[in-house]
Amino acid sequence: MPDLADGSALDGIFAATREQFYLPDGVIYLDGNSLGPMTHASRERVATETGAHWGEQLIKAWNTAGWIDLPAQVGDRIAKLIGAPAGTVTSVDSTSVNLFKVLTAALQLVEERTVILSDSGNFPTDLYVAQGVIRLLGGEFELRVVEPEGVAEAIDDSVAVLMLTQVDYRTGRLHDMARLTERAHASGAITIWDLAHSVGALPVDLTGVRADFAIGCGYKYLNGGPGAPSFVYIRPDLAEELQPVLCGWLGHAEPFAFDSEYRPARGIDCMCVGTPPVLSLAALDAALEVWDSVDIADVRARSIELSELFIAEVEARCPDLDFASPRNPDSRGSQVSFRHPEGYAVMQALIGQGVIGDFRTPDLMRFGFAPLYVRPEDVRRATEILGTVLAERLWDRPEFRQKNKVT
Ligand SMILES: *Cc1c(COP(=O)(O)O)cnc(C)c1O
Repeated sequence: MPDLADGSALDGIFAATREQFYLPDGVIYLDGNSLGPMTHASRERVATETGAHWGEQLIKAWNTAGWIDLPAQVGDRIAKLIGAPAGTVTSVDSTSVNLFKVLTAALQLVEERTVILSDSGNFPTDLYVAQGVIRLLGGEFELRVVEPEGVAEAIDDSVAVLMLTQVDYRTGRLHDMARLTERAHASGAITIWDLAHSVGALPVDLTGVRADFAIGCGYKYLNGGPGAPSFVYIRPDLAEELQPVLCGWLGHAEPFAFDSEYRPARGIDCMCVGTPPVLSLAALDAALEVWDSVDIADVRARSIELSELFIAEVEARCPDLDFASPRNPDSRGSQVSFRHPEGYAVMQALIGQGVIGDFRTPDLMRFGFAPLYVRPEDVRRATEILGTVLAERLWDRPEFRQKNKVT
């Protein structure tokens, strides 16, 4: 825990970052791990892109407003947060699509190994993508899914690719990326890390751990907006050799030569496929400006402070809830979960009272702590309200059991 002097220094830093967000009155937002809130900069930027650029300049804006450079520009901003050199990250497509691209690329780099190793805490889309790739490749490969605690032991010389999400989306459990990457490399396997719940939440050092491939999400802790493009990283020496499977014109070495033969761009640009979603990229680019004035190490220190406070207050006020995340903050990402048999209804009632978290089946109530805009007083207030919702059974109403399409 930071001492008081640190605490007050952090208060100043995070008061300034909070100012950069639009936050609706009366809402305590503990769901930035699922969809980050909007920054004022994003809102203004989208207005500029639609008005002055798309509106006034039409197609000229690809050059005059730098639209064509946005994937690389956003990639460079994200690179700083994940220990990657400039020019090794690009921001295009969704996380699922980027996983398909790196998995199909990675599997071409291995010989005589047939296993894609993952864990049962992985986000389903990652497992689905692997299943689809295996079908596409005619069943040459198999997906092996083990318990998160058993991953290290399961790395043997049949493993072609170790495909993991660093932070478990349900419990916040954090994998030791350095240790597992080293172990995978020692056995001759390639690593793909999904940083969806890591980027913007805790320090990541892709270069330091010698990670091979990484992907991650633009709309969670990076606050890029609904459907924001994701990002993809390839270790620079690997990127020089890669043969992409999703071959599109913008991943070509010379897109505007309009050659009829595909020749991949060298480096990370080969992960580009089609025309990027400019408005979404612009919103993400602007949202990333907040990182110019804050250090990810401070964000991590503050996130631990906030989540420890939340856990202590919930355990004091809410005896009906069972803690479902790792106890040690060094083994968690920036979210914590509690179980309740009526977790969905409790969360709906809580949202009705202005405290927004979310629910993951079958019984997990999930709360994310994004220090850029969540303050200690928000955490305290949220736990008071949660205590009241439970003590007074405010959740016990039919409308709160009515499942929405998105939970
Ligand atoms: C949120 C999340 C995704 C999202 O994938 P999209 O294709 O962008 O919808 C993927 N993987 C993990 C681990 C996630 O948490």
